[in-house]
Amino acid sequence: MEVLKKRILEEGVVISDEVLKLDALLNHQVDPQLTMEMGREFAGRFADCGITRIVTVESSGIAVAFATAYELKVPLVFARRKKTLLADPDALCERVPSFTKGIVTDIMLSRQFISPEDKILFIDDIIANGDAARGLIKIIERSGAELVGLGVVVEKSFQAGARTIKEQGIRLESLVRITSLRGGTIEFGE
Ligand code: 5GP
Repeated sequence: MEVLKKRILEEGVVISDEVLKLDALLNHQVDPQLTMEMGREFAGRFADCGITRIVTVESSGIAVAFATAYELKVPLVFARRKKTLLADPDALCERVPSFTKGIVTDIMLSRQFISPEDKILFIDDIIANGDAARGLIKIIERSGAELVGLGVVVEKSFQAGARTIKEQGIRLESLVRITSLRGGTIEFGE
């Protein structure tokens, strides 16, 4: 998506050789027009897959997941970052390390909103080491639903996440692929 690359070059801030701040587009502020365009792109790529539900993890994945769900005319479910220890018999839970925050969080999705009949498209903002994605993939597998694919806005391909998920045989589509942030320069790949 050329428009997205342009916006990342204009508004992204390289924090280190590994971290790109995208608060202006994804992680703090949202541009509705650009976000709807991302949703159309994902919807187009998965148009003929019989998707019945979009899933994401709160919070940064929600806007683009909503845009995709709107285009495909299916519901969106977001896994919640659990803040309570109250036992919910319907909850599917996984513990995931957070790449940027350096902490571990629990994510949960209620069985009420995912069923073995579902064909799931998982949408997320950024993939780095893939821990967050792997957590939600485990939840989807345990629900019995079929994971059709994963759509990520930004794949940092110099980190292992996208590669290891593809090696699991999961279809992964990214809107932009970043190959390097070295020296403060954002480099894109095909
Ligand atoms: P992973 O679990 O794949 O290592 O990291 C995924 C999550 O960490 C993403 O959903 C995103 O919120 C955050 N993250 C990872 N790398 C970056 C980055 O370079 N910039 C920003 N803004 N967030 C990142």
